[in-house]
Amino acid sequence: MGIVIALAGNPNAGKTTLFNRLTGLHQRVGNWPRVTVERKEGRLAKHKDVRVIDLPGIYSLAASSLEEVIAQDFLTGQSPEVVVDVVDATNLERNLFLTTNLLDLGLPMVVALNMMDQVTAAGSSIDAAALAERLGCPVVPISARTGAGVKELVEAALAAAEAASPPDPAGRSRYPEPVENLLAQIETTLPESVPAPARRFAAIKAAERDAGYTPSDESVRAQFEDIIAGLEAELGTTVESAIIQERYRQLGPLAASVLKRPAKPRVNWSDRIDAVVTNRWAALPIFAAVIFAVYYIAVTTVGTLLTDWANDQLLGEDGWTLFGLEVPGVAAVVGGWLEAASVAPWLSGLILDGIVGGVGAVLGFVPQMMVLFILLAVLEECGYIARVAFILDRLFRRFGLSGKSFIPMLISTGCGIPGIMSSRTIDTPSDRRMTVMTTTFMPCGAKLPIIALISGAVFGGAAWVAPSTYFLGIGAIIVSGLILKKTKPFLGRPSPFVMELPPYHLPRPGQVLRVMWERSWSFIKRAGTIILLSAIVIWFLSSFGVVDGRLQMVDDLNNGLLAGLGAGIAPIFAPLGFGTWDATVATITGLVAKENVVATMGVLYNLGEVGEDDPTLLATFGTHFTAVSGLSFLAFNLLCAPCFAAIGAIHREMNNPRWTWFAIGYQTVFAYSIALLVYQFGALGTGGGGIGTVFAAAVAALLIFLLVRPQPKAVDGTAPAVLDSAPAGVGR
Ligand code: GDP
Ligand code: MG
Repeated sequence: MGIVIALAGNPNAGKTTLFNRLTGLHQRVGNWPRVTVERKEGRLAKHKDVRVIDLPGIYSLAASSLEEVIAQDFLTGQSPEVVVDVVDATNLERNLFLTTNLLDLGLPMVVALNMMDQVTAAGSSIDAAALAERLGCPVVPISARTGAGVKELVEAALAAAEAASPPDPAGRSRYPEPVENLLAQIETTLPESVPAPARRFAAIKAAERDAGYTPSDESVRAQFEDIIAGLEAELGTTVESAIIQERYRQLGPLAASVLKRPAKPRVNWSDRIDAVVTNRWAALPIFAAVIFAVYYIAVTTVGTLLTDWANDQLLGEDGWTLFGLEVPGVAAVVGGWLEAASVAPWLSGLILDGIVGGVGAVLGFVPQMMVLFILLAVLEECGYIARVAFILDRLFRRFGLSGKSFIPMLISTGCGIPGIMSSRTIDTPSDRRMTVMTTTFMPCGAKLPIIALISGAVFGGAAWVAPSTYFLGIGAIIVSGLILKKTKPFLGRPSPFVMELPPYHLPRPGQVLRVMWERSWSFIKRAGTIILLSAIVIWFLSSFGVVDGRLQMVDDLNNGLLAGLGAGIAPIFAPLGFGTWDATVATITGLVAKENVVATMGVLYNLGEVGEDDPTLLATFGTHFTAVSGLSFLAFNLLCAPCFAAIGAIHREMNNPRWTWFAIGYQTVFAYSIALLVYQFGALGTGGGGIGTVFAAAVAALLIFLLVRPQPKAVDGTAPAVLDSAPAGVGR
């Protein structure tokens, strides 16, 4: 049969939730708009021959941002057998704008009135039959979350697909008479190949001068242009805005006629909470407190307990007890085996110091990471993160930056790659590039081990260290934005950002655990593959060296190959306070994967410090760094070029090698400058000073100059303001 069902709808209308329910897949759902930026495909759980496509959220079919182009191209180019328009019924009027757009496409269509559980909970009701009558296509009330009505929706969609009947043209929006005449005129000139139901959409697009729909014939085009220009003079506005205005004019009464609100509105808890949480004065302090609490719990308290247990007992030598049973630690067990099998010393070194030391060092942080991921997922699920975007938008706007960068930024606290990809929601190319360049400043999951290691080893687990890395990321993004906005390629007004605040709801434990597990599992998999490989390479390079002209195992790491390689580069980092070969090597291996920074330390310190009283990674690390150099090391590793996988994502999004190199170069130079300032001015406090300080002062002066210099004049005015097609302020 080969039916394709396309799910279309506004951002955050519940398309992905419905998609997951229909297909049994687990695509990422987020309680904030614009989580899905690519289209995802699955098959109907009960009819394997039916394909379901989850499209990115769109507000209209006037494609401006990349995600809108993806959705629109799919709908017009692939002509799915049926479109399921997912409508957020709690926001009916606004969502119906897209519905009226979609009806013009002339594809078989069913409206899924989603979130009916919330409509009912608020004491409202919607007359689905009346709405279906008005729109000229079936309307099925559902709740994607609870599953209510989903079966009926599938039946209606399959029936519409099989009948291949387009919506009743009577349900389409009618425009002012002159516009209708123009459309009719254009329709007659369309080629035969455009099927009847799609002709109106093509005519509208042509009247709006959409490049994809203007007639190819020169004389026809000129003729059209005359009529359109004449009409526009008469209307006093463009055909496009006349059409949009008319649509909106009709939507209010349409929504009002089918929606029944309760006589006495119930207390809206979401609004009450928002009054506090997004309050002009309280919002930022509350946000700071929440982030502080998250990192404090994940890294400092609960997380440390779990990590210490994982490092010393589960993976280390100590062992632990389970229901009174003595369970030995992994290192002890493996060590025992190796001894019993009397393997060659180099092999046992490789396994114990290289693999258990390196991979173990990283795996030890998994519990902390899980706690962090759970807490972040709870914040996402309950709807608070959407408020954070709203709050930060207000802050960023004051600096002339686009509010749209936050969604990528917030996603990057899990992993930078989806964060970078989600920059596609930004329409203005310069803002999009800027976001791609700066979003990995946020501390991703893989950077957590570095943060935890330094806060534990150098600062004795001080509570302020971990949360500050989050604020360092935000600060770096703001500072970079301010600097870059004053350079030619980034001039222009920030893209506008309109976002509706979803209602709060209790997080579902299953969803939270799933998100946590997905993120943690990908991390564990990396530990077993790329980190394992890196640890082995590091072990070989550090334990072997050329002695007496022969490659052989060395007793002292400082004679190893790696020491030589690292020592060649280390002077570069000397002004940052960590110009030792081991710190250099750790930083560089971080490019392969950020976990490697800790894995490398694990291998090197395991090898180097045998016989110490307390050979744990934490204790050893602490003896290699001072507070100031630890902080500088942390700042550099958090801000410098991300891992190769993320660099690949940057390259894909930039789609231009020069931009990719610029991004990596910028990140690294920025990281170097910040780490330099941290170390040099920090060292000043503890009695340092000298040529480095002078250098740092010069860098600080340059940074300040770049920050405060006046905006250069734009070359030809400012960039055009791309307006979201959604009406501003409708959200809330
Ligand atoms: P998308 O952007 O359209 O893909 O929307 P998502 O599927 O990511 O859902 C957005 C938010 O709405 C998530 O927090 C969902 O849990 C929530 N949601 C989706 N469907 C329903 C529903 O039927 N009822 C309620 N109460 N919430 C829903
Ligand atoms: Mg989605």
